[in-house]
Amino acid sequence: MMEMLLRQCSKEFLHFAACLQPCRLQHCGQGHGRPGRLLVSRLFQPANLREDRELGVEGRQGELTCRSQRLMLRAGLIHPASPGCYYYLPHTLRAMEKLVRVIDQEMRAIGGQKLNMPSLCTADLWKRSERWDLMGKELFRLQDRHNGEYCLGPTHEEAVTELIASLGSLSYRQLPLLLYQITRKFRDEPKPRFGLLRGREFYMKDMYTFDVSEEAARQTYDTVCQAYCHLFERLGLSFVKVRADTGSIGGKLSHEFQLPADIGEDRLLICANCSFSANVETVQAGEADCPVCRGKLTETKGIEVGHTFYLGTKYSSIFSASYNTPQNKPAVTEMGCFGLGVTRILAASIEVLSTEDSIRWPGLLAPYQVCIVPPKKGSKEEEAAGLVDALYDGLGEAVPALRGEVLLDDRTQLTIGKRLKDASRLGYPYVVVAGRRILEDQPHFEVCCQNTGETVFLTREGVFDFLSNVQTV
Ligand SMILES: [Zn+2]
Repeated sequence: MMEMLLRQCSKEFLHFAACLQPCRLQHCGQGHGRPGRLLVSRLFQPANLREDRELGVEGRQGELTCRSQRLMLRAGLIHPASPGCYYYLPHTLRAMEKLVRVIDQEMRAIGGQKLNMPSLCTADLWKRSERWDLMGKELFRLQDRHNGEYCLGPTHEEAVTELIASLGSLSYRQLPLLLYQITRKFRDEPKPRFGLLRGREFYMKDMYTFDVSEEAARQTYDTVCQAYCHLFERLGLSFVKVRADTGSIGGKLSHEFQLPADIGEDRLLICANCSFSANVETVQAGEADCPVCRGKLTETKGIEVGHTFYLGTKYSSIFSASYNTPQNKPAVTEMGCFGLGVTRILAASIEVLSTEDSIRWPGLLAPYQVCIVPPKKGSKEEEAAGLVDALYDGLGEAVPALRGEVLLDDRTQLTIGKRLKDASRLGYPYVVVAGRRILEDQPHFEVCCQNTGETVFLTREGVFDFLSNVQTV
């Protein structure tokens, strides 16, 4: 079965390799291929909008497990490699890089400092915290040539605490210390599924905090939670923060950030009267009332996109991560750890924002903000093709924030309708079309705002003005 899938895939690769011919030779008689222009015909996008029937086994509707996986495969955003592992194709990577920029902004705003820790973690570290056995089969384990044991890190509490301990005591003046990384993580999922939602290899932001006291650590905990709320608000995602179980990480206090969705694997209880909300795992079986106000609890499903833990001294005492007090006495640091599923946020936002047919992105994260659709070759409107090129070239000048964000759909052998449909499927927030009104004495472009469904007709200056409000990161 797998072999068949691979053979099918390599055939498709050949197919899209053929589509990478320079566009001036293949499609476009209008000379759109000027250097620096971003042409749809040149995108490395395997599906480059192939029809559903051409999709491989994993891409057929009905056999798939969720909307985001189906839409991302069909649009050429991801390509299956092995169970739970995907190629992230250029559109996905662009969106992910934007998400990383937003996360960096939010983490730096609260004093976070970014670093990078090894993915290869020695077994010794994990044995000291007793998680080498506790994690069981979830850990990807491997040996080096000297029979040294390692795992591919799914999380880095041990590594970061050992780092702090090995540098000697911190000064109380250096605390709180907030360190984070955004790296590839590995988890041997028994049943990888739902595309990027539950893979075996994924990107995560993990932050580790060190404080002088429990009080200070709880304050840091609240600060990071607020930054998470701010992040999801900026992305325009509706989320719930729920009380959560501490699981194998341990600690005293924990919350999850969840995006409500039917395919979510977490069951949440939410009170209609007050702000109480919790993962079902934390609520005693049979409890139907809110423990705060006795209001009725309703159940909903969610996709976990963030998880926060107040750890206390669980790891810092094992590894002796300490600081010097103002009296110059050593004391153990109080820790917290804070995860965000980076690839999962991407897939989950596609899951909750998209329609059955069309991807919708959080505005800030769309791979490209604008797609311009010139007239079809041979159509009456073709005489206005020069206006479209001028619009494309002028846009970067008029709205510097959009430089590198505007695509030109130069596949002018296709009708405008077909190209609009493709643009809708991919979810570029703004699509600018040179339609019938381009031939008026005062030429008008049609601007479709895909996230709101609204369409406006604007002159060239009107388009510049309109798009100058687009938020980019
Ligand atoms: Zn309540």
